[in-house]
Amino acid sequence: MNDKIIATLRSDQQPSSVQKDKILTFLNKKYGENIELIWEKDDEISHGFILQVGADVYDWSMIGKINQLRSSLEKVSIDSDNYVSLIKENVKNWNPEVNSMEIGYVEETGDGIAIVSGLKSVNYGEIVYFENGQKALVQDIQSEDIGCMIFGKDDEILEGTKVYRTGKTAGIPVGNMMLGRVVNALGESIDGLGDLKSDEYYPIEKPAPEILDRKSVDRPLETGLLSIDSMFPIGRGQRELIIGDRQTGKTAIAMDTIVNQKGKNVICIYVAIGQKASSIAQITENLKKRGALDYTIIVAATASQSSSMQYIAPYSGTAIAEYFMDHGKDVLIVYDDLSKHAIAYRTISLLLGRSPGREAYPGDVFYLHSRLLERSAQLSDERGGGSITALPIVETQAGDISSYIPTNVISITDGQIFLESDLFFSGQRPAVNVGLSVSRVGGAAQTKAVKKAASTLRLELAQYREMEIFTQFSSDLDETTKNQLKFGKGLMQLLKQNQYSPLSQSEQVITLVVALNKMLLNVEEKDVKSTMYGIISYIKNHKPAIIEEIELKNVLSDNVKEQIILSAGEYLEARK
Ligand code: ATP
Ligand code: MG
Repeated sequence: MNDKIIATLRSDQQPSSVQKDKILTFLNKKYGENIELIWEKDDEISHGFILQVGADVYDWSMIGKINQLRSSLEKVSIDSDNYVSLIKENVKNWNPEVNSMEIGYVEETGDGIAIVSGLKSVNYGEIVYFENGQKALVQDIQSEDIGCMIFGKDDEILEGTKVYRTGKTAGIPVGNMMLGRVVNALGESIDGLGDLKSDEYYPIEKPAPEILDRKSVDRPLETGLLSIDSMFPIGRGQRELIIGDRQTGKTAIAMDTIVNQKGKNVICIYVAIGQKASSIAQITENLKKRGALDYTIIVAATASQSSSMQYIAPYSGTAIAEYFMDHGKDVLIVYDDLSKHAIAYRTISLLLGRSPGREAYPGDVFYLHSRLLERSAQLSDERGGGSITALPIVETQAGDISSYIPTNVISITDGQIFLESDLFFSGQRPAVNVGLSVSRVGGAAQTKAVKKAASTLRLELAQYREMEIFTQFSSDLDETTKNQLKFGKGLMQLLKQNQYSPLSQSEQVITLVVALNKMLLNVEEKDVKSTMYGIISYIKNHKPAIIEEIELKNVLSDNVKEQIILSAGEYLEARK
């Protein structure tokens, strides 16, 4: 190779020829004869100079020397009797060492991305920092330069700004002090309640638990929503996708689930990606009002923040969740939503110059979400038995679940709750589409009581839907068909549930037993819901033993089932 090695000398004053010769002699000794010395003016270096050869940097500037002196003085033992003389000794014999460290320079910046040259041995995922102390995450490594995502505002970072390595990967503070707080994607408080201090840091990206460290999902995570707990039960450690068009009640399901965890020893983390700050304020307020904020942490990267912050938010949220899982706790994490997350990543990738693939997303967008969701787990007893249950949310366009991001996330999760616009606008809320929703592992975790009580529900609803379509245009229906339609309509009424009004296990069981035994056939459709409330409070007030047995034993014995039917009969009789 005949290429010359370029050595760059930076100082505020042009070096004299004697100085230049000395430096060249040093360079020739160290790097051989084939070297060229270039001088660049840098007003920030007063006294001394910085010499850079490839990745090696020799800091002979005043600041560099002072830093070296400081660290050499730190080695002096404080206990020494003759402390002062030791310092004197140290200063007298002190010789500035030639340290090599990597310094990079910003080549290009904009849209929260900086292209940096000179950091030859930097690692993917490493945190680097700029002269002004601002940090960035290395996201792209090319042969000539690297691309990094700047955290925070990028307007102070200009071409030529120096960049330093930290040798560390991104981490965020974790701990109990975060409960009840709202933090940004870097774990910094944004709720005005003061700084969060922690001695513990968790990396935001971490390999998922190994198969041997996991066990099967077998404990329920109740949402309090009859339509989900009865037909699509979720287990602790499961990943259940909530998917649907805009404004179909996706966030509402997640919120209800969080509120329902009160007193159930579950820590909840709500990760808001690309939402308006006002929505996040509203969510915080709603949780607070219902006493659910005490056990919840909100990680928010708002729509006004950079794509970088939106991109790392779910990983940061997961790191916080992992801390609790490692301490044997059960955690519920909501990612609201991963469609916006994918868009943030697409923006970053396009800015980094990666080639776009399907729907302009980069090729690794699947890996993006799979490595995130794989971190949800039910840990084995040896690992403490903690768990992370994930409720990722994905937004569809016109109900199309076969587009790129929805199909990806569907294939990564253990099932999906599909919400439908038509149902939502017809007043069927939560708007769960019973035909397209599924929960693949939750069955093993569902409480025996609900499982037994709900056994025929899906089938009945499927038959109702089919019949409804067939009879849409016919006027004269026979009595059996009419009754069956009425029965189905009644069931649909009972699956309606207002926001923030979770049903307990026993309330769900009573509803299912009464409804599936066709006890409400003579009740007007509009009165079905209120009649059911009446039956439940009648049992609560007059037959508390029924409630107690279900809640304590989590099973539905034939005896209890009979008692529910009897009590409901008594109530309906008395109402006549
Ligand atoms: P976006 O796509 O904007 O994020 P989303 O799918 O998350 O919307 P939500 O914000 O949860 O939908 O709900 C939309 C509206 O419907 C809200 O005003 C919410 O209060 C209302 N809503 C949701 N669920 C119910 C329910 N079960 N009963 C009554 N109203 C509901
Ligand atoms: Mg929403």
